[in-house]
Amino acid sequence: MNEPKYRRVLLKISGEALAGDAHRGLNFDVIGSVCDVVKQCVEAGVQVGIVVGGGNFWRGIKDGGDRMERTRADQMGMLATVINCLALADSLEQRGVEVRVQTAIEMTRIAEPYIRGRAIRHLEKGRVVIFGCGTGNPFFSTDTGAVLRAAEINADAILLAKNVDGVYSDDPAKNPDAVKFDEITYDEVLARHLMVMDSTATSLSMDNHIPIILFALKDPENILRVVMGEKIGTVVKE
Ligand code: UDP
Repeated sequence: MNEPKYRRVLLKISGEALAGDAHRGLNFDVIGSVCDVVKQCVEAGVQVGIVVGGGNFWRGIKDGGDRMERTRADQMGMLATVINCLALADSLEQRGVEVRVQTAIEMTRIAEPYIRGRAIRHLEKGRVVIFGCGTGNPFFSTDTGAVLRAAEINADAILLAKNVDGVYSDDPAKNPDAVKFDEITYDEVLARHLMVMDSTATSLSMDNHIPIILFALKDPENILRVVMGEKIGTVVKE
């Protein structure tokens, strides 16, 4: 096997991706196939941190709406991410991968609290670290949590596994003339309001010079392809 392109990556998986076609809840076949590939990445010598969303259970604004106070609705969203973290951790362990869950909001009977130095030590030992609760603060997204953790652990790249196969000039579902970019700058993503991540997350990765590779999770093997340096999806960089 060739040498991986990246030594340490932060993989962001949206909650919805773990639900498969149902969009809600957990699809264990999907989770299993993602974890099979994460295992291959670890075996290739790549250090893998994972941030997972919670949208398959609850999104603060979308599900709470004006029926709930925003902070509390976001807290529910952060708790939802922990369910996904535990499901991923269990699936990885079933495959013989060592894994630790660290949460930004302490729940020490369930997971370790997030401690940067400890997370890095786990990664160096070849353990996968799954970061729960996003940033730990309301009014943020797990995309921002992913960039924050990527910056903190000095990840070489953020692997943004989505339900689309790249960044397009327009919504490819609505506009047949939409063009897919192989590469694009952060500035252009922000200026053209392209839906890569929310603007807070995009700005944070721009300020910290962390490249983002956006690709489709539909084929989980794509995770390994990106890690090995194959040019798929869209690279967002300076
Ligand atoms: N959330 C939050 N702070 C964070 C990350 C997430 O309050 O730092 C809440 C927010 O309500 C969000 C929900 O958790 O809608 C689930 O996260 P997200 O929408 O990013 O999940 P995804 O769309 O990736 O599944």
